[in-house]
Amino acid sequence: MIIAVDGPAASGKGTIARALARHYGLPHLDTGLLYRAVAASVLREGLDPAREADAVAASGFDDALLADPELRTDAVGQVASIVSAHPLVRAALLQRQKKFAQQAGGAVLDGRDIGTVIAPQADVKLFVKATPMIRAQRRHLELRKAGQNVSLDKVLADIRARDDRDSRRSEAPLTQATDAVTLDTSFLSIDAAVQRAIEIVERR
Ligand code: C5P
Repeated sequence: MIIAVDGPAASGKGTIARALARHYGLPHLDTGLLYRAVAASVLREGLDPAREADAVAASGFDDALLADPELRTDAVGQVASIVSAHPLVRAALLQRQKKFAQQAGGAVLDGRDIGTVIAPQADVKLFVKATPMIRAQRRHLELRKAGQNVSLDKVLADIRARDDRDSRRSEAPLTQATDAVTLDTSFLSIDAAVQRAIEIVERR
């Protein structure tokens, strides 16, 4: 069984995808991490994320980088949404994701284009969303817990900027697949959201 989980930043898609993978005993791929690895490589090598050739050169990153906690920062997330708009960067990461989705026994993948581009044949497609303010509040709390002193306004502005870039790019934009089921987590606890996701999978 292939489960595709798409949605914007801080919607809860990663948490839901991990929980579904655990529940069904399936391998999980957080595809955002691949774009974050390209972004971190660009930053480390002093390259320009807006230049497609620079971003492509950073696409051959070492897999050890995927475990680096720096990839999870908002700064890297912003640059990830710049490099991910380049068609050649998306092409460089395409086969790896398709192969993961097609492995025997199935898989859970989360990202922005899983149900539309990476695994349009997925058995279940979830589109996880929440209001920008609620997503900003969640991210703000996480950052505060991690000791980062940043204002809620700044986090909200960053979320809106990333949504805007991810939705407006011409290549594989963030859009809901026509056959995806919407899961709005705005007013759900993590447990309730996971429960709802399992129900959706069971109903398929
Ligand atoms: O999901 P996450 O916030 O880690 O993703 C970081 C960035 O990577 C996103 O803002 C988006 O631009 C890009 N991305 C993408 N396609 C995916 C996953 C992530 O373009 N499948």
